Amino acid sequence: MIQNENRWESGVRKVIPYTPGEQPSDRNIIKLNTNENPYGPSEEALKQLSDIDMDSLRRYPDPTASLLVETLADYYDVNKDQVFVGVGSDDVLGMCFMTFFNREESGKRLPIFFPDITYSFYPVWADMLGIPYETKALKEDYTIDKEDYLSENGGIVIPNPNAPTAIYMDKSDIEYIISNNPDSVVIIDEAYIDFAPEGSSVISLIDKYDNLIVVRTYSKSRSMAGLRIGYAISNPRIIKYLNDVKYSYNSYTMNYPSIKLGAAVVKDEEYFRKTISWIVRTREDFTEKLKSLGFTVLPSSANFIFAAPPKGFSAEELFEEAKKHGIYFRYFKQPRIDNFLRITIGIDEDMRKVYEFLKDYLTK
Ligand code: PMP
Repeated sequence: MIQNENRWESGVRKVIPYTPGEQPSDRNIIKLNTNENPYGPSEEALKQLSDIDMDSLRRYPDPTASLLVETLADYYDVNKDQVFVGVGSDDVLGMCFMTFFNREESGKRLPIFFPDITYSFYPVWADMLGIPYETKALKEDYTIDKEDYLSENGGIVIPNPNAPTAIYMDKSDIEYIISNNPDSVVIIDEAYIDFAPEGSSVISLIDKYDNLIVVRTYSKSRSMAGLRIGYAISNPRIIKYLNDVKYSYNSYTMNYPSIKLGAAVVKDEEYFRKTISWIVRTREDFTEKLKSLGFTVLPSSANFIFAAPPKGFSAEELFEEAKKHGIYFRYFKQPRIDNFLRITIGIDEDMRKVYEFLKDYLTK
C-alpha cells in the first residue's frame, strides 16, 4: 500500500536506467546479444576455483585487491599505483564519471563530449550525476571525427573500438584528441581492444599524457563477464583520486574469488591469445558470409559485428524473428542505427546455424 505518496516523491532521484541485454535462463539459445566470449575462462581459473578457501569467505576481502592490482601492474609493466580495479568496467567508468567530470568555468559546468552513437551507458551516468554533455555525430561512414573533440569541454569518453559500430580508431587519431585536451580528462574505454590489431591500445601513452585514463574489462577477451572485473590504467595521481572516491562510496568492491581468479587468468597468456585468434577468424568468416547475403557490415575490430540487412528487410523484424528461432541479437531503436543488428561472434557451429537461419529468412 502506498501512503502519502507526494510527501517523499519530491526527494527521489529520478533516473532513466541503462537497459542491459537480456540474460534469458534458457541455455538452449544461441546468445549473441551481450558480447560475451563463447569460450570458457582459462583452465587456470578452474584450478583456482577448486582451491578457494571457503573459510576466507567469512572475512571481508582485501579492500585494495592488491593481488589483482599487482598482477595487472606486472602484466602491463606499470607500477601498482597506476592500476585501479572495479566491479566490471561499468563500475570503473561510473567512478571515473563521478571523480573527473566536474569541471567548471566561471561557475558553469562544462559539458563532457562523447559520440552520438556509442555505449549507451555514458548518457545514463551523466544524467544520473547531473553532468552536462554534448554528443558528437559520427561521420557518414560511422567513424569518429577527431576534429569534433577540440573545443573546451569537461572531459571526453570514447570507446575504442566504438560500440555498437565495432569500428576502430587509429591510435594516432586517439592521441590527437588526448594531446589537444590537456585541461580535461580523456577516458579511452578499451573494452574490445584485444580484438583489434596488435599495438592499437593507448596504454603505451599513459606516461606521456597526464590526462589519459585507459579502461579495460575481463568481460570480453578474458571470458569472465560473470565475475565482474574491470580496471583502469593511468598515472598515480589519477588513480589516487579514483581510489579516494571509491573509498568514499564502498571500500570492499572486489570479492575474494574475483581477486583470486582474476589474478590467475592473466598468467595464461597462451589460452588468451588462442581464444582471441579463434574469435577474430570466425568474425572475418562470418562477415564475408553476411556480405554474400547482401548485408552491409561495418568493418569490425571487436568480438561483434554491426550489420544491416539488404534493402527491403527490416532489422527490427529480423531481430524478433531470430528470437523466435532461439537466436538472440541486440537491436537499438535509435536514429541512424535502427536498421542494424549487433551480433556477437560465437563459436563456429553457432555462427553456421545463424548464417543458415539468415539465408532462409532472406530467401523465403
Ligand atoms: N564499455 C563498453 C563499450 C561496453 O560495451 C561494455 C559492455 N556492456 C562495457 C564497457 C562494460 O563491460 P563490463 O562492465 O562487463 O566490464
